[in-house]
Amino acid sequence: MEKVRVRFAPSPTGLLHIGGVRTAFINFLFARKNKGKFILRIEDTDVKRSTKEAVDAILDGLRWLGIEWDEGPFFQSERMDIYNRYLKKLIERDMVYPCFCTKEEIEREREEAKKKGIPYKYSGKCRNLSKEEREERIRRGDKYVWRFKVPEGDVRFKDLIKGDMHFINSVLDDFIIVRSDGIPVYNFSCVVDDFEMGITHVIRGEDHLSNTHKQILIYEALGIKPPEFGHLPLILGKDREKLSKRHGSVSVEEFKREGFLPEAIINYIFLLGFSLKGNKEIFSLPEMIDEFSIDKVSRTPSVFDYEKLRWINGYYIRHLSVEELLNRGKEFIPERFMEKGVEFVKRVLKEIQGNIKVLSDIPYLVDYFINEPIYEEGKIKEITEDKRVLLFLKRFLSSIDKIEPFEARNIEKKIREILDEMGIKLKVVAQPLRYILTGRFASPPLFTLIELLGRETVKERIKRNL
Ligand code: GLU
Repeated sequence: MEKVRVRFAPSPTGLLHIGGVRTAFINFLFARKNKGKFILRIEDTDVKRSTKEAVDAILDGLRWLGIEWDEGPFFQSERMDIYNRYLKKLIERDMVYPCFCTKEEIEREREEAKKKGIPYKYSGKCRNLSKEEREERIRRGDKYVWRFKVPEGDVRFKDLIKGDMHFINSVLDDFIIVRSDGIPVYNFSCVVDDFEMGITHVIRGEDHLSNTHKQILIYEALGIKPPEFGHLPLILGKDREKLSKRHGSVSVEEFKREGFLPEAIINYIFLLGFSLKGNKEIFSLPEMIDEFSIDKVSRTPSVFDYEKLRWINGYYIRHLSVEELLNRGKEFIPERFMEKGVEFVKRVLKEIQGNIKVLSDIPYLVDYFINEPIYEEGKIKEITEDKRVLLFLKRFLSSIDKIEPFEARNIEKKIREILDEMGIKLKVVAQPLRYILTGRFASPPLFTLIELLGRETVKERIKRNL
């Protein structure tokens, strides 16, 4: 088998979308599994829409996710002479023609098609111009584009994922491959580059299927062998519409800002893109490479499950050492909390680690260490209605100064002493006390919580609510 060479070829016109990440990652896995090469190509021929920020978003995003490329990034905008060489070949082979139709003429054709209720197709008017006429108009300085002469017939190919594909050429019009400013259109530059870069397999989203039809025709016109093609099903939101902003975060930048870990995103993308046997859900990169095979790629659209992603992220967070958590969560840890000292911060992080789904949960989870708890209206009254709770709180308050040193173990001992004297169970007072101290019913274990809050804060919060 020839050496596998695959590529990711994004257009730098926006943020790095999770759908693009899936495409990039599947190509990356394919290359790694087959000891081939993964190439990064930036398709920036659309000068108006391409931006430097978008290029950075792609490069930074892929690096952050650990999707390393072996060659590139190549920029199409720097390869114009190559496309021109191939245009010449197509001219020599009489597979293209210059089209002088003006915007207005095309618009008129479009309008007419609309009136008749049929899909617009270029009439092919300039296909039949004589050689003399063409030369004369070019000499005159008329503006023109290059159109591809779509032949009669059809295109068949076996898609690596979707199986047998069949397209009838008559659905196409003579499409433009080079614009009037000399810049190639995507379908043309893509073919040239895939061929020049020795790409063996083109794996991309199924929204490109109609492009594949056109691209195969261009390969045939150039007399060169097309690569194999594989088209990935769409990623959908819960409502089965194409995944978009409406459903939640969709770009790598947004996921990063929310506090997702790259390894969790990659792991989830893997689950999303493949039909796997068994229940295993957590995969390391070597395991994913090992497990990879193109026929395990899902054939049907996958629904993006944000809850599942959060669960996986929580898993990875739980398995970080506290040092790593501190390090990777840095940007999310409130400054005022940090001021309490690294050792203290680490102790609290260790306690809340199990409840962090995304790093941006941290500010909420540590909030009552730096701010007064926020109580729900009437809640304090409700939980202290039980006279036993009130009595316990009073007794605890009057003996709290005697707990020495103020550590979870001793705090527990004292509390149990009081409860024994009163003849009640911890259960009766635990949640009310937790609520008074934090404004919540979930927190680290009660005695640890009391120690971490510190004697003065605990006294103060109880007193104020008695
Ligand atoms: N630039 C195209 C895109 O971003 C690339 C498609 C392809 O992989 O050929 O959609």
